Amino acid sequence: MEKIASFTVNHLVLEPGVYVSRKDRFHDTVITTFDLRMTAPNKEPVMNTAEIHTIEHLGATFLRNHAQWKDRTVYFGPMGCRTGFYLLLEGDLDSKDIVDLMIEMFTFVRDFEGEIPGAKADECGNYLDQNLPMAHWLADRYLEKTLKCIDEKHLNYQE
Ligand SMILES: [Zn+2]
Repeated sequence: MEKIASFTVNHLVLEPGVYVSRKDRFHDTVITTFDLRMTAPNKEPVMNTAEIHTIEHLGATFLRNHAQWKDRTVYFGPMGCRTGFYLLLEGDLDSKDIVDLMIEMFTFVRDFEGEIPGAKADECGNYLDQNLPMAHWLADRYLEKTLKCIDEKHLNYQE
């Protein structure tokens, strides 16, 4: 079988950043898939599932309520390797187009207090598996070490 595009990225040199993973065209519509990489693969510890789950619930809630982006949001969810998330948006987009949106989103996650949306037994498949303090910590780390000081090298995959 053919190797899919995301497996051809050199994960040995990949650092936290905001990358375009792929673009798919369906008739007149382009869907851009972003690689929101939050930890350095195979170098740093991966995120645990509870905090990933919390970021997923908060991130999805944020995006689907966003005045500008809610109607262009296709999907937001974690990578199986637990080093980041995929975000799919409608449109032919570049990574720099979403940096402000990601700063807004991860600030929302970092500062969120109260009941996590969709985290009741009738709303979620594993409702007890949440970790808001670690979601705060990871969002703050991504904001301060990556998003707020992002450069070309962390907006484009390196060879
Ligand atoms: Zn859930």
